[in-house]
Amino acid sequence: MENVLVVGAGFMGTGISQVCAQAGYRVHLMDIKAAALDKAMNEIKWSLEKLDSKGLLKGTPKEIMGHITPEQDLSSAAHASWVIEAALEIEDLKKQLFKELDQLASPGTPLATNTSMIPITHIAKATRNPERVLGLHFFGPVPLMNLVEVIQGEKTSPAIFERGGTFVKSLGKTPVRVQRDIPGFVMNRIFSAAFREAVDLVAEGITTPEDVDIGMRLGYGWGVGPFEIADNSGLDTNVLVGKALKALGEKNLTPRSDLIEQMVKEGRLGRKVGKGFYKYTPDGKRLPWDDKSQK
Ligand code: NAD
Repeated sequence: MENVLVVGAGFMGTGISQVCAQAGYRVHLMDIKAAALDKAMNEIKWSLEKLDSKGLLKGTPKEIMGHITPEQDLSSAAHASWVIEAALEIEDLKKQLFKELDQLASPGTPLATNTSMIPITHIAKATRNPERVLGLHFFGPVPLMNLVEVIQGEKTSPAIFERGGTFVKSLGKTPVRVQRDIPGFVMNRIFSAAFREAVDLVAEGITTPEDVDIGMRLGYGWGVGPFEIADNSGLDTNVLVGKALKALGEKNLTPRSDLIEQMVKEGRLGRKVGKGFYKYTPDGKRLPWDDKSQK
């Protein structure tokens, strides 16, 4: 059984660990916070049981959980076939992690980052072997979303880029290739441009999140509206992504208004805390934020 080290046990690291374990890899899930690891293990168990109850799981939840080990240091990098970093969207933090991972992992092991926006080339500069650094940009919730962008940094070797696509397929996901390393890659640039406009229209009182989401579903065939996507992703992560984009000079991809920053200050972080652009009941049902509209 091949080992995968997943660094960061938040929303994305949890989902990535689950799909790797489901695909037959032995997963080492690392976070600096014990509480994050506990939450991740509980969420994976809940998700596997739900899939199992629908007959969508190969193996039992118990067997698959048995392939995931929570850890609080990076030592498993030494015997990993793949390393996937999904820690916070902060460039200096990722660079520090990649510097350590480069020293710990054996030379042939690809080091992937799940960054939303930061060029792979910047992160790879922290390593001695930038040829083995690539982007594997998963979409959340990872167990449900089948797309992964595979991103080639300036120095990523063609062989590692190729292996990225093969690895993604081994997880039952579909890779799309990003052949030049620009901030936000392809999918997030397109989403961010639409979301920037949506946030500003709401901030100016022209429309509501619910109406935008209905509109994008019915008018443009989106499966999920942009505000639902943002709530699922986490508005705190959205703010970090916006900061990273601005630092990279990409001012056209972030809203003019500070609506999301204000919401984060008020603790409205999205689905994970039960409130964001919408409210969520404890069993996960989404309700409009303004309860005057509730009967
Ligand atoms: P999150 O805030 O849910 O989780 C981040 C985790 O990283 C936390 O549990 C934190 O304790 C941990 N962490 C912080 N410092 C660490 C360190 N030094 N070592 C190990 N773990 C550390 O964030 P998220 O939404 O899971 O995002 C993670 C990454 O994935 C970010 O780069 C983000 O941009 C990217 N991403 C997010 C989404 C999304 O929808 N949220 C989608 C694609 C990519």
